[in-house]
Amino acid sequence: MTIRNLQQVIPSVPTSDGAGVKLRRSLGSQRGLYVDPFLMLDEFSTDNPDDYIAGFPAHPHRGFETVTYMLDGHLLHEDHLGNRGDLKSGGAQWMTAGRGIIHSEMPQQTEGRMRGFQLWVNLPANEKMNPAWYRDIEPHEIPQVTLADGGAAKVIAGTLNVAGVETSGVITGHTTDPLYIDVDLPNGATFTHFIAADYSAFLYLYQGELQVGAPGSARMLKTQSAGVLSAGDQITVTAEGGGARFLLIAGKPIQQPVVQYGPFVMNTREEVEQAVRDYQNGTLTQ
Ligand code: FE
Repeated sequence: MTIRNLQQVIPSVPTSDGAGVKLRRSLGSQRGLYVDPFLMLDEFSTDNPDDYIAGFPAHPHRGFETVTYMLDGHLLHEDHLGNRGDLKSGGAQWMTAGRGIIHSEMPQQTEGRMRGFQLWVNLPANEKMNPAWYRDIEPHEIPQVTLADGGAAKVIAGTLNVAGVETSGVITGHTTDPLYIDVDLPNGATFTHFIAADYSAFLYLYQGELQVGAPGSARMLKTQSAGVLSAGDQITVTAEGGGARFLLIAGKPIQQPVVQYGPFVMNTREEVEQAVRDYQNGTLTQ
């Protein structure tokens, strides 16, 4: 057993996207700053409607998946095929853009808190042109598990094992085999979990204080930062201060070239140029 340590810290930086939604981007904030197969992670967290009200009007995607997980707030998702889905507090949406999707993600509130995350997960070359696919995940479909040392975890994707009892999220069977859990640890509690040695893994601490790594070599992860974990097959973290809330995200690397132009993520420059042409010609999704 080898405990994974904190190998690299990717601080989130303030940015805006869509029609002016203010958010914090860690993975994906600079070219090449990703953790294969995870391309981007945005956190949006604000009580000010001016920061989110403009939303994300119609825009395209090709070649990867977007995972939106809401802690607070209400977004309506609509796509060019007429699919609609409400994203409410505690719910999530897993969207495989595949060949192409054109969609909008618009706030359905004019006041109050909007808080959540959007993760981009790459697709392997042979799945980039698959038809688009959705899974809207209602809050009650996200299992919540009480942890051995206190606290709780919500399982959005993959399988959590607590004292030999396995709990799986609704997202399973994807090539990248993602684990996506939202962990709430009280002060002093330690959380340990197995992660396959050949998988990439990172944490995103969105609240509180967290020591990451083996006792003796543990390092503090700063709030609103992504902590990329070193090689190993176990994660060990301990909450400090007032406790910690964080995402643990892991998956199987794709190990293929990544060529990104905005919302198109392909393997070659030619494929990205084709995506731009297809979008301009109205054939992105056909
Ligand atoms: Fe989008």
